[in-house]
Amino acid sequence: HILYLPSLVISATKILQKKKLWKKKNSNVKKHHAIILPLPLQGHINPAVNLSLKLASSKNFTITFLTFEFLHQDLTRAHPYIDTHIDIFSQEKQGPNGVDIRYRVFSDGLPLKFDRTGKLDEYLEWYMSGGMFDQVEKEIEEVVLKSNPKVDVLIIDTFYPWASKIAKKFGLRLASFWTEPALVFNLYHHVHLLKLHGHLDCSDTRKDPIDYIPGVQSIKQHDLMSYLQDKDVSTNMHKLIFQAYQDVRKADYVLCNTVQELESDTISALQALMPFYAIGPIFPPVSPDKAVPTSLWTESSCLEWLGSMPNGSILYVSFGSLANFSKDDVTEIAYGLIESNVDFVWVLRPRTVLHEADHLLPVGFEEVVRGRGIVVPWTNQIAVLSHPAIGGFLTHCGWNSVLESVWYKIPMLCFPIFTDQFTNRKLVVDDWKVGINFGNGQPLKRMEIASQIKRFMSKENGDELRENIDVVRKILGNALEDEGSSSKNIDLFIEQLI
Ligand code: UDP
Repeated sequence: HILYLPSLVISATKILQKKKLWKKKNSNVKKHHAIILPLPLQGHINPAVNLSLKLASSKNFTITFLTFEFLHQDLTRAHPYIDTHIDIFSQEKQGPNGVDIRYRVFSDGLPLKFDRTGKLDEYLEWYMSGGMFDQVEKEIEEVVLKSNPKVDVLIIDTFYPWASKIAKKFGLRLASFWTEPALVFNLYHHVHLLKLHGHLDCSDTRKDPIDYIPGVQSIKQHDLMSYLQDKDVSTNMHKLIFQAYQDVRKADYVLCNTVQELESDTISALQALMPFYAIGPIFPPVSPDKAVPTSLWTESSCLEWLGSMPNGSILYVSFGSLANFSKDDVTEIAYGLIESNVDFVWVLRPRTVLHEADHLLPVGFEEVVRGRGIVVPWTNQIAVLSHPAIGGFLTHCGWNSVLESVWYKIPMLCFPIFTDQFTNRKLVVDDWKVGINFGNGQPLKRMEIASQIKRFMSKENGDELRENIDVVRKILGNALEDEGSSSKNIDLFIEQLI
């Protein structure tokens, strides 16, 4: 599928050239050693791997990348034909330009068989109670004591509520890595204002727009992250988020996978409060077929089939790695796709419906759509989105999916389900106008689904969205140029490290 990826191939060549130039120019630049620990979720691992590659390949960093054992097991299971049981970065390390990334697997302290998704609440208890902290602390201690070059910075997902304690103990600079938009960070950061003004955690929650968050002109309650729309904010998930947002105040840097010019008001407001660096979009530096194997499920390829379909004709449907549906919702989407007559690729992840393993689709579905639709359990999303046959993306608005969709100029039909996805939808539909809403918050009904899909994929609708997406795509591309804001911000972060 390299045929379909001219822009990536060009960027890969450019990166190699830059890397050589950089090495020549910066042979005296200080070598840094960062420990990177992502949250063990697909949408957090992907940008953390890409950030590791970026720092190690062009910024003179040694990286120690930490992975929990249960996650490593999923990765190994998902890539039976690749030698991932040892090291997911092994391909990138080879050759004269190989990167210095050390991949370490360690236990989170719970048995491998423990069902971390099904028993999320118990897992969160462990996560916050110190059980997981002890394991991470032990692992980091070992790396710090034994490593050469010396570790000087900890780059850790913002959702680890005890990150500052670890960084302090080992004398490391702390870079909190935020994998969602700056707007979401800003709202979590100002939870106290939401409480103060009665938009959160009170008996009669206000429903009027919120207009007092620095850098946010106005935002409606239903555009807040799901956790800030909840009536009960005393769950373990809320505790974790609120604790993490206390802890991140102690970070030396916040690195965010966004672009300064995309969220300028919010980012300026945050920069007045803390060292906040927009360094996105953080994408794989080489073509997808060479990328580090990060998928937690085996990828099914549909590229051959896509190759036989007309340009822009296919709707890509995926709701990411976490969102769950009821079986009825899956049935309605399936019939909606049939009735729309639009051709599609649908990623129906295992456990999309919790506690239900098989037979999610209506009987006979695959025969009815044969030739015009494919259902896969997981795929290489970047390879799919970059294929010319794709004309639209029915998405849950996960932040990585949003950035990837914009990068490949694919308009979005937005169906947020939980967490930051509601807030991301606001950016996509209301602010940038590169997507439209799907559904109206009511239970899904097949005929409504069908007509919305049909309208979304129609040419008239697509043309306007595509014009807007060109503009946003340029902003992303410019940010990554040598003099672009994200390139400058990442260099600034590194300068501050010294
Ligand atoms: N993804 C993938 N294959 C799929 C579906 C998703 O590789 O079939 C990747 C996608 O490219 C993205 C990540 O998984 O990088 C999902 O992250 P996102 O933030 O979009 O959503 P989340 O899974 O966190 O809800």
